[in-house]
Amino acid sequence: MAEERWDLLVKGGTVVLRDRTAALDIAVKDGKISAVEPDLPAGGAVRTLSAAGKHIFAGGVDAHVHLNEPGLGEWEGFATGSAALASGGCTTFVDMPLNGLPPTVNRAALELKLDAARRSGVRVDYALWGGLVPGNLGDLADLAEAGVVGFKAFMSSPGDTGDGCFANVDAGELFAGMRAIAALNGLLALHAESEPIVSRLAAAKQAAGEASMRDFMASRPPEAELEAVKAALEMAWRTGCRLHFVHISTPEAIGLIAEAKRAGLDATAETCPHYLVFAEDDALRIGVHAKCAPPIRGSREREALWELLADGQIDFVASDHSPCPPAMKETADGNAFAAWGGIMGAQSTLEAVVTEGWLKRGIPLPVLSRALSAAPAERLGLAASKGAIEVGLDADLAIVDLQAPYVLTADQLKYLHPRSAYEGFAFGCRVEATLLRGSVVYDRRADQGGLDTERQASGRLLRPQGAATRTG
Ligand code: ZN
Repeated sequence: MAEERWDLLVKGGTVVLRDRTAALDIAVKDGKISAVEPDLPAGGAVRTLSAAGKHIFAGGVDAHVHLNEPGLGEWEGFATGSAALASGGCTTFVDMPLNGLPPTVNRAALELKLDAARRSGVRVDYALWGGLVPGNLGDLADLAEAGVVGFKAFMSSPGDTGDGCFANVDAGELFAGMRAIAALNGLLALHAESEPIVSRLAAAKQAAGEASMRDFMASRPPEAELEAVKAALEMAWRTGCRLHFVHISTPEAIGLIAEAKRAGLDATAETCPHYLVFAEDDALRIGVHAKCAPPIRGSREREALWELLADGQIDFVASDHSPCPPAMKETADGNAFAAWGGIMGAQSTLEAVVTEGWLKRGIPLPVLSRALSAAPAERLGLAASKGAIEVGLDADLAIVDLQAPYVLTADQLKYLHPRSAYEGFAFGCRVEATLLRGSVVYDRRADQGGLDTERQASGRLLRPQGAATRTG
């Protein structure tokens, strides 16, 4: 060991492992974790970082982020979006295929996306979703070969970014898409709301001149989610397509998915921090910055989602960070239907889940950490290097103070447009530093005029393992 010195020793922290928390030191060599043991010798490392009094989580793996380059960089870019993620303890994100121009629905668009990422610089590691849209079945194999983690499709209209080329799929297109993705052994990520239900209700509200946040939320009832989840599960059984439900908002839909899983279907479900943190009253108070689809539900649903998360029936938590310029939210006539839908929250995921899950509800930290890191890494084929604090994996770490209450203000936000549904929220914990492959990519002392981070843009593209193999 004398000649093989570690590059870094993270010393004195409480490490959140898969099944317990323990006082352990973490040794890092060449960006990988090379030892996780008590009382490792400081002399064994070139550099030592004290984590005394802090908890060390595996870096977050955010499976659901919308960054808008290329084409819509004035909404949010790779540099600002990934800086926000790093400051929230996230070390890997997966970019959604819509809300950039062009959307990532074929090989050429994917190359433009990668080019934009390289030019802007990305602070953490990242992977990409491809899109399943009407008419691109012939592009799916290309996208899989190029390294997307899977394909995203919408059962309801995703809202227009101006080019109209990321449309929702109808039942026939979804069925054909599932068969094609199954043949690639790919993964389909599905926005599950019934288009007939939500479009009819929205049209009725608007015809009646009813356009408040309350009206918008009433136009997307739980039944729309349930109807879509049922139909998609049925199709997944018939096609053998591996299925992941994004941003599930109701315990009833989680129940349906969990039942299908128990019966042997290869399906997973994600929820978002905003469904776990906020209830309807909060959304009405916050207004259009809490507009999302499906909408925020009631406190009964929120509490039931926490129970399902604690019980392992919700597989993971992702931010669904969906930024836009403030003018697209704050429309002149206050029409909530016209405001852009999406919550800016990527920076707050870990702090929100730990504040509400552990500090308020006592859900064990390993359970929360699994939902934030290991489970998404496993589902998306990234677990060979990401998702846990274990020897051989990337040294991606979030150093968190669990006794650091603070109120989030706009000046602390790193998004291109510093607005968020979480402004004014009282967090009970705080990310102090984030390490990507052993390098500091966020240090809160830098925010306060002290240290600068070592690496501004060292993020690398990740390709999934196993997900894109051709089986038939
Ligand atoms: Zn989304």
